Amino acid sequence: MSEAKNVFRPANLQTSSLASCQVCHHTVPNRQQLILGSKAEFIMATHKLFLLPGDGIGPEVMGEVRRVIQWFQDKNIASFKLDEGLVGGAAYDAHGESISDADMAKAMAADAIIFGAVGGSKWDTVPYDKRPEAGLLRLRKDLALYANLRPAIVYPALADASSLKRELVDGLDILILRELTGGVYFGEPKEITELGNGQKRAVDTQVYESYEIDRISRVAFELARTRNNAVCSMEKRNVMKSGVLWNEIVTQTHKDGFEDVKLSHMLADAGAMQLVRTPKQFDVILTDNLFGDILSDVAAMLTGSLGMLPSASLGAIGEKTGLRKALYEPVHGSAPDIAGQGMANPIAMIASFAMCLRYSLGMGEWAGKIETAIALTLDQGLRTSDIMQDGMKKIGTTQMGDAILAELDALA
Ligand code: NAD
Repeated sequence: MSEAKNVFRPANLQTSSLASCQVCHHTVPNRQQLILGSKAEFIMATHKLFLLPGDGIGPEVMGEVRRVIQWFQDKNIASFKLDEGLVGGAAYDAHGESISDADMAKAMAADAIIFGAVGGSKWDTVPYDKRPEAGLLRLRKDLALYANLRPAIVYPALADASSLKRELVDGLDILILRELTGGVYFGEPKEITELGNGQKRAVDTQVYESYEIDRISRVAFELARTRNNAVCSMEKRNVMKSGVLWNEIVTQTHKDGFEDVKLSHMLADAGAMQLVRTPKQFDVILTDNLFGDILSDVAAMLTGSLGMLPSASLGAIGEKTGLRKALYEPVHGSAPDIAGQGMANPIAMIASFAMCLRYSLGMGEWAGKIETAIALTLDQGLRTSDIMQDGMKKIGTTQMGDAILAELDALA
C-alpha cells in the first residue's frame, strides 16, 4: 500500500488488531492509531490548536474543551499550543467581518481548528456577506474542507431518546461521509430567470468531476479500514448522470488498492429508507453534498439530541504541517435560547475534540477514552436539560464537564 494512497495512516502504524468499541461495546478494528496526514508524532509533540468559540453557547461549550485540554497537559499526556480567535457575530462586532484575515492565517497554520458555533438574532440585519455563518463558510472554502464526517453513535444510556425503537439503535455506530465542496450547492448555472409570460425558471446544477469523487472515495475507504471495513456508496444513478459517474469512480477507486474494504452501492432514496429501517447494517456511508446533507440529518435523529453530535470537516494535507487541514465542530448551532444560562450540553463539543485527537493528532486511544468517559457519565444518570429523562439528575454545562473529567481521571 503506497503512502500516497494510504493518506490516513503513516506506513509505520499498525491498525489490524481488534478491540471492543468503548462506546457501544461491540468489536471493531482498533482505531487507536489513526492519524490523518503523513506526519506521525508519537513523542510528546506540541499540537497547535486554533480555537474559535464563536457566539451564543459556543464559548460556554468551548470552555469545557479547554478544561479537557488542560487535563491532558496536567497529566503530561500531550502538549498543546493554543491560540484563540473570533468568528461569527463576535468577529463582526470586533472587526466588521465574520472572520478576520489575521484569524484566517492562524487557522491555515494550525494543526487543527476547534470551532464552537456562530449566529444569533443580534446579527440578523448585518450585510449578507458579513453574516456570522459567512465565517464558517470562508473557513470551509479557504481550507478546501471537502470531506464532512458525521458519526451517529447511540450511547446505550440514551437509546430510548431515539425516534426509533431501542433494539434498532442500541449500539449504533455509523459514519456518514458527505462530500462538502461540490455538487448542486455550488454548480453553475444557479439562477432564477423571468420567462416573460409571468412564469419564472429556477436552475441549480449538480456537477461532479472525477477527481472530486475519487478523493472523497479514498477518504471513505481509509476510514472504513479503521472501523468495520465496509463502505456503502449512495447516489441516484438511475436518474442522474452525476450518479452514474459517482458510481463509476467509486468502483474504480475501490479497485485501486482498496479491494480489502467491502463496497456496496445503494440508491440514495433506498438508502434513506434503510437508514431508518435497519441502521446498524451500515458502517461508512459515502455520499455527495446534497444527499449527505439529508442523510446525515436523518442519522442525527437516530441518536436523539443535537447536543450530542460531533463532526469533522477535512481537507487536503497541508504543505507546512504535513497534516490534513481539519475543522472540528459540534453539529448544533449557537442556541441563543439557552445561551448564558450555563445549561448547554457540552458533549457534542467535547466529542468533536475527541474526533480531533483521533483524526488529526494520532491519539485515537485517548479519543476512545473520552467517548467512554461520556458514556459512563450518562450511565450515572447525569443529564443536561436537552437530554433530560424521568428519574435522571439534571445538571449544567460545568457539572457535565466535571463529571466527564472525573470519569476520564478514573480511566487514565
Ligand atoms: P441550534 O442548534 O442553535 O438550536 C436548536 C435547539 O437545540 C435549541 O432549542 C437549542 O437550545 C437546542 N440546542 C442546541 N445545541 C444545544 C446544546 N449543546 N445543549 C442544549 N441544547 C442545545 O439551532 P437554531 O436554533 O436553528 O439556530 C440558532 C443559531 O445558530 C442561528 O443563528 C443559526 O443560524 C445558527 N447555527 C449555527 C450553526 C453553526 O455554527 N455551525 C449550525 C446551526 C445553526
